[in-house]
Amino acid sequence: MADAPFLNYINGAWVPSASGETFESRNPARQSDLVGEFPSSSAEDVANAVEAAKDAFDAWRLMPAPKRGEILKRVGDIMTERKAEIAHAMTREMGKPFFETKGDVQEAIDTAYYAMTMGRQLFGHTVPSEMNNKFNMTVRRPIGVCGLITAWNFPVAVPTWKMFPAILSGNTVVFKPSEDAPHSGALLVQVMEDAGVPAGVVNLVQGAGPTGRAIVEHTDVAAISFTGSSETGSRIAATAAARHARISLEMGGKNPAIVMEDADLDLAMEGLIWGAYGTTGQRCTATSRLIVHEDVHDELVERIKAKASTLTLGYGNDDGVEMGPLINSKALDKVTTYMDVAREDGATIAMGGTPATGDGLEDGFFFNPTLFTDVTRDMRVAREEIFGPVLSVIKIKSFDEAIEVANDVAYGLSSAVYTQDISRAFRALRDIDAGITYINGPTIGAEAHMSFGGVKATGNGHREGGWEVYDFYTETKTCYIDFSGGLQRAQIDNYDD
Ligand code: NAD
Repeated sequence: MADAPFLNYINGAWVPSASGETFESRNPARQSDLVGEFPSSSAEDVANAVEAAKDAFDAWRLMPAPKRGEILKRVGDIMTERKAEIAHAMTREMGKPFFETKGDVQEAIDTAYYAMTMGRQLFGHTVPSEMNNKFNMTVRRPIGVCGLITAWNFPVAVPTWKMFPAILSGNTVVFKPSEDAPHSGALLVQVMEDAGVPAGVVNLVQGAGPTGRAIVEHTDVAAISFTGSSETGSRIAATAAARHARISLEMGGKNPAIVMEDADLDLAMEGLIWGAYGTTGQRCTATSRLIVHEDVHDELVERIKAKASTLTLGYGNDDGVEMGPLINSKALDKVTTYMDVAREDGATIAMGGTPATGDGLEDGFFFNPTLFTDVTRDMRVAREEIFGPVLSVIKIKSFDEAIEVANDVAYGLSSAVYTQDISRAFRALRDIDAGITYINGPTIGAEAHMSFGGVKATGNGHREGGWEVYDFYTETKTCYIDFSGGLQRAQIDNYDD
């Protein structure tokens, strides 16, 4: 069971780590609140999980995909029943408010039901042959054991973006949640068990970086899907490439929202507050750069300040809380350090800039919503992912300049443009180097049936979500069926010269 004592889940059984060692998960809003102790898994535990996944693969891949889809339907049903329970546990463990964690679980439910439908449409291509009496088609085959390594900030939704398409496609998985959200990962795996996923198809190993590394290094892990920082992604990619493992990387962002002088400023302000300060700015798609036309700069900055200063900070399971804590002390140190970086670079801290104190905040990693103005595109606060409630404002004079600034960073995940001008909107869709562009909406708001992912340092060309993710979890086999009864040579027998 996913209850204390917390264990790994290998081959359908809840088991401790081989070493018996554990690590703690604590509530980031109330550090005195211990969520639990979780197994610290070694390469030995990973090897056991991989072996279980390998053993389960044959029977699972041979189960018809619509039947696998029926199991995912049950997964969605159980998650629907447990939505509030799982969301409260997530809020306790990783801090975002209950209304946000409910959205996280709903995304997982949507992903389960979408996977169910994919069970009946794992399509290939049927195309004409260039020869007579010959039939050509492609079919999808599962890959084998997939290693899933995830970040803490969407501790249920993001693992399901990987786990559900992986198993629907006939693969088996070894899942390592973030060491900052192990309980959320365990609750997800508990749902899988209760839905009747056969032993060995989904395995859970808890632990930190070294546990993830053991998954990446294991030669029987055929594919690795990773969500986390670009730095970790680079390390994983190097290891995986050396042994030719398939790898999908979803990494950091420095997402711009462009607000032009013709924008609806109320709409833009609402989107900026949600984009920059939702999840305490700890989303890969968080709005971290506001690129604003000089004509509306001052007014928009004032509106953001007025609204952001009313946000209620606190423990996300308490009523009325709009913004939770940062995830841990390391994150609090990192965000705090960027206040000095901003000052040294010549930016102005127009709002916030300090850890948040006050009743109910003394035992957590709270930071005030922060706004940097007088930012130029070359400053570190305009280029680096801070991963906190921090928005850097860059003033521009034209739409061309806005696009240029938007593209002038290493990352390329999400982007937003606020304008009433349809030609600007379409130019943004065409010209912004990002995997996602929203017109008149914030940089956040992924839907389960739409592809999700980024370009440049954010990703390596794969997508999660939508049907595109099924390309990652399947190999294409090209099938030729010659019913002519004779030898037919492509490219040769149809041509005289
Ligand atoms: P992180 O890179 O520190 O950790 C991510 C995962 O990788 C964790 O499970 C961790 O234990 C594991 N890990 C660490 N070192 C490893 C190694 N050497 N080998 C294998 N696994 C290892 O990231 P984080 O702090 O948990 O998450 C924040 C980052 O994730 C941000 O950069 C954010 O933008 C990004 N993120 C991206 C997306 C996306 O879809 N693009 C979604 C959510 C978060």
